[in-house]
Amino acid sequence: MKIGIVGLPNVGKSTLFNAITQAGAEAANYPFCTIEPNIGIVNVPDERLEPLVKLYNAEKCTPAIVEFVDIAGLVAGASKGEGLGNKFLSHIRECDAILQVVRCFENENIVHVNGSPDPARDIDIIETELILSDIEFLTKRIAKIEKLCKGGNKEAAKELDFLERLLSWLNDNHSARSFVSDESEADYWQELYLLSAKPILFVANVSEDDIHATAENNKFVKAVSERAKAEKAEALVISAEIEAEIASLPDEDKAMFLEDLGLKQSGLARIIKAGYKLLGLMSYLTAGPKEVRAWTIPIGCTAPKAAGKIHSDFERGFIRAEVVNYADLLAAGSLAKAKEKGLVRSEGKEYIMRDGDVVLFRFNV
Ligand code: GDP
Repeated sequence: MKIGIVGLPNVGKSTLFNAITQAGAEAANYPFCTIEPNIGIVNVPDERLEPLVKLYNAEKCTPAIVEFVDIAGLVAGASKGEGLGNKFLSHIRECDAILQVVRCFENENIVHVNGSPDPARDIDIIETELILSDIEFLTKRIAKIEKLCKGGNKEAAKELDFLERLLSWLNDNHSARSFVSDESEADYWQELYLLSAKPILFVANVSEDDIHATAENNKFVKAVSERAKAEKAEALVISAEIEAEIASLPDEDKAMFLEDLGLKQSGLARIIKAGYKLLGLMSYLTAGPKEVRAWTIPIGCTAPKAAGKIHSDFERGFIRAEVVNYADLLAAGSLAKAKEKGLVRSEGKEYIMRDGDVVLFRFNV
């Protein structure tokens, strides 16, 4: 999962991103990740990993990860190439979801690009840039499809109708995300890669004193929540400054710090959880004496597809999956005992993975 952090200047993006990189995972364990200064890799919190490490006396523990991309420099006019805008927009295109940081703290010493915090206006500025970029893209696509229509292509005529309705929706300054299309039009989305269609999470970045703010008692948070609702998205209340403080603490002190603040978990953990939910993701586990590891897959994923996350050979040569539920395995005390009790199932190609499955794949090479 790759999440792009966007927002106007001076809203707290770098503060949050620095907290992310400081809390970050050891990049060397994830060779498939892009290692660049604007990318931070974070472990997905998973309380099932440690008990499994103990059970197997495993040498290594590798949590699932989320990549965060710092997409600084998205300002009004970006879609017109201002402030290197187009480069930033193409970075967003590579992300699975967008996290928009919205300034909800007042501080006279920190200039706000447009005067004072105004979450609804700030969200609109960013959304408009994404929408403008999509309009440009759609207009080009329409010109191409129109040519096919002139040749009498009926399928193209249907697509053109879809594209024109979508364009008119965007022209009214609505995001593609909020466009209601017919099920029969689902395929048309595949080729569009629209920025304003990306799932979005809003982070209301509040001051340290407001970490318990809600839409009921804080007008800035209320404004973010309302916009989030309109986009069928979630709004999380976070203080980037506090996140930076948490990230700088040794692990053993983090829990106490959170408790002192009256928080159950860090903002970062909440962002990751919300990202999983937003994108319909879950984790399954592999476990053995060498390594205990969590893997991210979409909910509803079949066993061969899940195996393909480990290696494409595993998917191609998939024979079956030996599956045991995490809680069953732990209660049994070992895989052998779980097998004796008949708790380890042999599942075939059609098997739909469940959250907390501990799996061993059998495959042909
Ligand atoms: P960016 O331009 O969006 O990357 O913003 P920065 O992360 O550089 O933050 C701009 C300024 O706002 C910095 O001086 C931060 O210390 C301050 N800031 C960021 N987050 C918070 C916050 O949660 N509370 C307060 N009071 N200040 C913050």
